[in-house]
Amino acid sequence: MHRLSLVGKLDERPGLEDKDFLVTHEPTQEYMFYTSKPRQLIKIDGGMDAIPADEVTAELIDTWVCSKAFDFLKAVPSRISFVLELSVHKEAFWKRLVALAPRRYWINSQQAGVLVFDANQDCGCLRTYRLTTGETHDELAFTNKPWIKLQSEEELYKLLDTPTGKHVFEAWQDHTRKILSMPIQFVEGRLANTSVEKTFVFAKGNGCVVCGKNAECYAATTIGSPTAAVMIQMSVCSEHLASAKEHPSTFSFLASLFSLSWDLPALNKLDSIPDDLIPTIHTLAAKELGGTVGSAQKRKRGWHLRLSLPSGWHWLLRVNSMTDFAYMLYEPGIPTERYRADSARDHRDVPFFPIHQHSNPDEDDDEVTPSFLYGHPLFDIKGLLSAGKRYGAY
Ligand SMILES: [Zn+2]
Ligand SMILES: [Zn+2]
Repeated sequence: MHRLSLVGKLDERPGLEDKDFLVTHEPTQEYMFYTSKPRQLIKIDGGMDAIPADEVTAELIDTWVCSKAFDFLKAVPSRISFVLELSVHKEAFWKRLVALAPRRYWINSQQAGVLVFDANQDCGCLRTYRLTTGETHDELAFTNKPWIKLQSEEELYKLLDTPTGKHVFEAWQDHTRKILSMPIQFVEGRLANTSVEKTFVFAKGNGCVVCGKNAECYAATTIGSPTAAVMIQMSVCSEHLASAKEHPSTFSFLASLFSLSWDLPALNKLDSIPDDLIPTIHTLAAKELGGTVGSAQKRKRGWHLRLSLPSGWHWLLRVNSMTDFAYMLYEPGIPTERYRADSARDHRDVPFFPIHQHSNPDEDDDEVTPSFLYGHPLFDIKGLLSAGKRYGAY
């Protein structure tokens, strides 16, 4: 399931400057690998203040935390890079989280529970929740669901700190930065040239705020007075740009996503790469990829741009739109491609569908994995260079 997240807040420093958010925990006396490191628990009850307490569900709390994950990571040191350590003060919130948590750990030495929520497409971090109240509570009594008993907190960290967890997190982080990179350029232009003071960028999954698929368009609006304007920008796919346009205004579209009912105008759109930019992109891609410009042909499914490398290998970049592209790498003397990254909608099981890569295209041992590419050659140089190096083209 995709959820709408506020993935970036560009103009301000992370929202956790507020000291009230932080509770410092002293490390334990004896030397321990994890627990000797400093840590601040992120207090989250305040984030729910705007909502009546009885309407705050565990899903809502965790969704809010997922949407703030990027800010939290920047603002608060944690003992494991991909683990968010959160604390809940309200007992009612805690009980709801206990009931929803996929994993519950009971730390014997502290007589306290830790709830663990796994990474998902909106948040590559593990979220851990603890109850922090003045009194002692027997959290075990809050649910008849099973708890996994552990001797110490150190043991819990060991359990959470897996290479897979780290990999998922790093992939999510790269991916999130990538889906935000174009909106950010757009927003930075706006910030430099207008009176806009604050900007919120919304995206989910691969980009589109509605469906989570790759977003090559934007719907943006500015609200507030000219002296204190706030720009809201949403990534959308072309299909959902069309639905956005059916709304009387961009703001009403945003409001519909949040089930609100405000209103204000303005709409901006950014298409796939225009034809007159192709020669420039071809030249720049050749330069960045360390090769020379080859042929460029416009075909039914977009431009076929070739570029040759000094090693004799060559790249073929098919560029149609950011939701329809393929990059292929060829070895000298071999007619079939050695590596391919593409967006064909044929590997639904691969995370971050539809964009993926083939380790050995059309062969039995072909492995299909996420490529985290953008579909615009200039944004994808890093990924292409590292693939090229893996295959010996460089
Ligand atoms: Zn969409
Ligand atoms: Zn493919």
